[in-house]
Amino acid sequence: MHIRKVSLGYISIPLKTPFKTALRKVDRVNDLIVKIEDEDGRAGYGEAPPTAVITGETRQSIETAVREYLAPAVTGMDLNEPEEIFAAMERAIAKNTSAKAAVDIALHDLIAKEKGVPLFRYLAGDNTAGIRTRLKTDLTISVNDPQTMARDALLAVENGFDILKVKVGKGGLQDVERIRAIRDAIGMGPAIRVDANQGWTRQEAVRTIGMMEDALLGIELVEQPVSCHDFEGMQYVTEMVKTDILADESVFSYEDAYRLIKERGADLINIKLMKTGGIHNAMRICDLAEKNGIRCMAGCMLESAVSVSGAAHLAGARAVITMCDLDGPSLCAENPYQGGPVYNGPDIELTQTPGIGIGEPPVDFEDGVRPR
Ligand code: MG
Repeated sequence: MHIRKVSLGYISIPLKTPFKTALRKVDRVNDLIVKIEDEDGRAGYGEAPPTAVITGETRQSIETAVREYLAPAVTGMDLNEPEEIFAAMERAIAKNTSAKAAVDIALHDLIAKEKGVPLFRYLAGDNTAGIRTRLKTDLTISVNDPQTMARDALLAVENGFDILKVKVGKGGLQDVERIRAIRDAIGMGPAIRVDANQGWTRQEAVRTIGMMEDALLGIELVEQPVSCHDFEGMQYVTEMVKTDILADESVFSYEDAYRLIKERGADLINIKLMKTGGIHNAMRICDLAEKNGIRCMAGCMLESAVSVSGAAHLAGARAVITMCDLDGPSLCAENPYQGGPVYNGPDIELTQTPGIGIGEPPVDFEDGVRPR
């Protein structure tokens, strides 16, 4: 079975509340949706958000990468030879990981549909022992003043979330106050993951995390304390604090993960399809992490259910992914899709529908190939 056509369109979904991190503020999901059809007219779907501040990709760059490089490269290729398709994508254009992820997710959706199995089952292969169809995600608390964050955290806990991902990285001392205010509001029960989004210097990170440890604030892990360009800083913080350090912006590729594990740049790895270029490369990072006993998180950018569900299927297939930060659909004010994994507060349930399980997204698709 061959790839007959690649098309694309856009989805726009308002967020319940503006999303604020040390890097940016956003109030809508505005994502590219890719549709890939085979000769029988069966279709797979993928999605990419423009997250310029992290991947360097804009709406225009993602569209250009898909239209002028990736779509022409994969059109006509044989879906029974997925390795060759993914290799062709890598040859077609360097980097552009979110654009590749959108195409890669659509391909995986389509391939699993052709095989008549849910994507998690296709990804697990013979290794069915690690499959989980029920996952639990944390919920992101945006960075604000401590009182606002405490209020948002309490609301999240009241809505059933018992793992919070708290955004900090805006002033070390105040960051301790933020976590303290949240703990005062929610008590010690819910887990707190702290994400600095590269907002600290290495000294600031060690001091701030040390204060959080001394104050017994019960932090499960700290994500990306320092700049992704400061590998030594990541090593230093990992060495100096007791709390587990999770690498996010520091790890895009398999090669990044390899170096990070070898040179101990963190304790844990956050795998996001928009950084890896999709599920194919994410699976390779899972293999590497598994071999080295490094636990992973499946994360997402500000994405809606198409691509987040791709990540959820990956998490369901791979036991090495022990943490999920797949709250994109929960942050959206509405769900424009039919079918797919069920997002109910912190609970994600994978269904047995073939592929990712989501029906045709309600967007106007147009022919994706544009000659360059
Ligand atoms: Mg992060």
